[in-house]
Amino acid sequence: MKYQWQDSHPLLSGINKVEEAICCLKENVKRFYFAALLSRYHCPSCGERFNLTGPSQAGCVCGLAFDPTIEFQKCQYCGNSLLKKVFHYACSSCGRINPSQFLFDEKVFDPEYFRESMRLSREKERQQNAELREMLRISRSDSFPLMEEIDLNNLPGLEDDLNQLSGICKIPEDQFEIGNALSFEDYRRHIINLLDSEMMFNSIAPLNPEERRDKVYRFATLIIMEHDRDINLYQMGNDILVSKA
Ligand SMILES: [Zn+2]
Ligand SMILES: [Zn+2]
Repeated sequence: MKYQWQDSHPLLSGINKVEEAICCLKENVKRFYFAALLSRYHCPSCGERFNLTGPSQAGCVCGLAFDPTIEFQKCQYCGNSLLKKVFHYACSSCGRINPSQFLFDEKVFDPEYFRESMRLSREKERQQNAELREMLRISRSDSFPLMEEIDLNNLPGLEDDLNQLSGICKIPEDQFEIGNALSFEDYRRHIINLLDSEMMFNSIAPLNPEERRDKVYRFATLIIMEHDRDINLYQMGNDILVSKA
């Protein structure tokens, strides 16, 4: 984030230089950190040195592309191998979250995984609604509350926002923050703090004053958490029951 100090107050005009110096220092520290870290590892295919090509992504001149966190890092608690989740790495055995050594201040993010799970979730939702409608059509029931279309179609603009969200991989990878600097990790922590054993989606206190945006991120975070098997989601009328897995 770049502040326009020079126009605000003459006493603050020098702060731009300080900001640039801090950025420069951070870049140098980052370069030094990775140079020291990578000197300990070699390409698992050809044994040569490799380069980092993105947040926890590596490429070697031999053509091998791999994730160095998964390749080289073991669980700090039990020593087993790590798995990539949507926003973090977790142990394949004990399940605990392990911070990656191959990330500096970036966040790991798997846009493909996310986009696919969002698509599957919406598809499943539509299919269930269609099956219910068909079932009710056959039984000629006049009214049945579950028949009502829920969430996506009843919330104007939500689906568009979700589609937009699915395309966020265009945002610079080390700047993966959402509105008002709230990240999915913030929402995840918020939900975990609130979740005793179970609660309704609509009762989750908002984090962002922008109501629609907040709803989208709460919903998306729940989908991710369900995919990570941290929680279970059940459609209940016009609301969703969230329960601990
Ligand atoms: Zn190689
Ligand atoms: Zn472990």
